[in-house]
Amino acid sequence: MSQSRLKSCIPLPIDHKMLVSVIEKAKDWALMHGVGMRDKKHFNKDVIQIAPFVLLPSPFPRTEFNKAVELQPILNELMHKVAHDDEFLEKTLQNALQVDEFTANLFDIWVKVREEGITQPISLGMLRSDIMLESRCPHTENQCAKHTPYCSWKQVEINSIASGFGHLGPVSKDIQSFGLFRSDYLMQRDGNRIKQVEFNTIASSFGALTSHLPAMSRYILRQLGHGDLIKNMPENRALSGLCTGITDAYDLFGVPSAVVLFVVEEVSYNICDQRFHEFEISEKRPDIMIYRKTLNEIYEETRLNEKKQLILEDRPVAVVYYRSGYEPAQYPTTKEWDARLRVEKSSAIKCPSIHYQLAGTKKVQQALAAPGVLEKFMGAGATTGRVRDIFAGLYSLDFDENGERAVDMALADAERFVLKPQREGGGNNVYGADIRDALLRMRHSRERAAYILMERILPPLVAGYVVRPGAAVPPPITDLVSELGIFGVIIGTKDKIYCNKQVGHMLRTKLADANEGGVAAGLGALDSPYLL
Ligand code: ADP
Ligand code: MG
Ligand code: MG
Repeated sequence: MSQSRLKSCIPLPIDHKMLVSVIEKAKDWALMHGVGMRDKKHFNKDVIQIAPFVLLPSPFPRTEFNKAVELQPILNELMHKVAHDDEFLEKTLQNALQVDEFTANLFDIWVKVREEGITQPISLGMLRSDIMLESRCPHTENQCAKHTPYCSWKQVEINSIASGFGHLGPVSKDIQSFGLFRSDYLMQRDGNRIKQVEFNTIASSFGALTSHLPAMSRYILRQLGHGDLIKNMPENRALSGLCTGITDAYDLFGVPSAVVLFVVEEVSYNICDQRFHEFEISEKRPDIMIYRKTLNEIYEETRLNEKKQLILEDRPVAVVYYRSGYEPAQYPTTKEWDARLRVEKSSAIKCPSIHYQLAGTKKVQQALAAPGVLEKFMGAGATTGRVRDIFAGLYSLDFDENGERAVDMALADAERFVLKPQREGGGNNVYGADIRDALLRMRHSRERAAYILMERILPPLVAGYVVRPGAAVPPPITDLVSELGIFGVIIGTKDKIYCNKQVGHMLRTKLADANEGGVAAGLGALDSPYLL
């Protein structure tokens, strides 16, 4: 099935001379406001280059954007409950743990911490729920005729269709049977509604960089003579919102001499995004000192005192914010695991605590979509229905009847799915024909239980220009698809939630034919939503 299409916010193509000039201005704006990254290929700590970005803000339906924003505190609370349900986490992860060493190591730390007794019951979640628009209408003709709230019908000028059917995407073949033809309009069935890709509980990035993006897009639109459009661009206060998570947790810790510790990679390519958090906190809370340490440095330079405070340079650590520690390569030796265990045992408030990280696994996401599970956490009300509605099809690959059925389904039509291991950070999933190969290889191996199967979301296309560091200017017009992330902050213990809010968003956009779009991985580009 072909993908539907959303119109770009201004008519394309942009005149060549104008385009070259605006891209030059936009690149300078990006560089001079820190919309940048370090170059992986020619690493030089002193050099920041532009982060890849999309020249024009990508269209996003306003109602779906608002829905995602409204759902965020509900999802925050759901994940908070999941993270504190020991039995559920244990049961959900048990098969994956037997074959996935990384998740098993995280789980072991959680077991050890609980055995010793939890020193710090408060957790800080700086979360990001990732969402794509599913362009396919989910309904049968009958349901659509009843105008269910899930499916919108859009008026489309018939002239546009004559000038290019493909531009408008699929027009329902049942249009005639519903008698919706009019002299100059046609109703197009348009399913564009949000579906959750995943829920990140550790090192959710790009809140800082994308907080600059609306201002950058406003500047670009004005340079293109379309300043009137900026009213459709929502402000994004992700950076300040996320930082209040850290400072609120710091205040709950309540020790004036305490410091904040960012756990960072050996080399931070995404340095601007991380440093802006530090600058923001330093500006608002000059009393708070922030350190950046790798897990190895934490191993070497910290200790636990008799009160189980994590001591760094003779001062207790109030908050530990992980921007590393989410993938196996970040634990090259046992020292890194020992450091992680020390932090988890300490009284510092962790973002995330180890059980939050476990709650963010793909396996948990899949388990939440199983019948009756959301109800267990949220009751059976309308809100539960709203959450379920954003879940795509998610299937366990365990060795039982359901798992076998899922394998058969994927082997029969691999293009319909994404195969996901228990990993974070992008580049780990399996797509298309590779799913067949992987499942045939794993069909009788326990390794299978470390994966989940997810229905592939087919977002609408939008034409646009991607600006990349070092690439030829102007870039070609290409078909793009977007992924929206909504940031949330939650602070609480098992029984008490101190703070729970939605704090901002990020949009990243990739070439329509790319499987993944991680910006840090060099595939995606920073973007901001243009609300329709
Ligand atoms: P990670 O934790 O590694 O980021 P994700 O589940 O977000 O894992 O997958 C990485 C990327 O793969 C996403 O950003 C998205 O581009 C793509 N992707 C993941 N799941 C789907 C899906 N169900 N449909 C379409 N694309 C997907
Ligand atoms: Mg993730
Ligand atoms: Mg992701």
